[in-house]
Amino acid sequence: MKITINYDNVSENDLLIADWGFSCSIENNGRKILFDTGGNGRILLENLNNLNIDPRDYDDIFISHPDFDHIGGLSNILNLNQRAVIHNPVSFRGIKYANEVKYYNEPTQIYENIFTTGELGKREQSLAIRTDKGLVIIIGCGHPGIANIIRSLEEFGRIADSLTSFGKVYAIVGGLHGFSEFNVLENIEKVCPTHCTKYIDKIRQLYPGKFIKGGVGTVIEF
Ligand SMILES: [Zn+2]
Ligand SMILES: [Zn+2]
Repeated sequence: MKITINYDNVSENDLLIADWGFSCSIENNGRKILFDTGGNGRILLENLNNLNIDPRDYDDIFISHPDFDHIGGLSNILNLNQRAVIHNPVSFRGIKYANEVKYYNEPTQIYENIFTTGELGKREQSLAIRTDKGLVIIIGCGHPGIANIIRSLEEFGRIADSLTSFGKVYAIVGGLHGFSEFNVLENIEKVCPTHCTKYIDKIRQLYPGKFIKGGVGTVIEF
């Protein structure tokens, strides 16, 4: 699988615009997913253009939570792509012009190797992709708490009989807000803390071997 960060508070490249918010493109087994849409649609489209990503190619749009810095570009994307299926946390209503909108209030398998935590803390869902190395979790802001997000997926993996190969969490990528229970990262191989993460430097100091620097233009392949 491949993750390309389209929108972030910092940029890796002069051509790509940094702005408060988060969005990334995920490619997995030929499926193209847009995760969140940043705060400003014009900036999102410009960054996608400079990353050679065509918004019309997305099969799915996954919205972590309806804070402005995650849904700001949604209408711009929907203007160009009416084909994509939207995956929303259950309390985010009001999308009118879309092919299909799905809502999640509990951990759910969306596709063969793709899962959501469903809405946690009445606010936010996270996306998980099952890979040969383990689960890769993509997080918007992490408002429900990173430990809660991981726990909900692990419990889901244990109770779902068909998911015996669910495996351990291999990596987490995205906004981790004020997350400071750093020992949670002990058993995780890779972490790309970006966007609203308060303790990026601390995580890098504690776990230099796990740390991946994030920003617009960062490409991560697992
Ligand atoms: Zn948020
Ligand atoms: Zn945010």
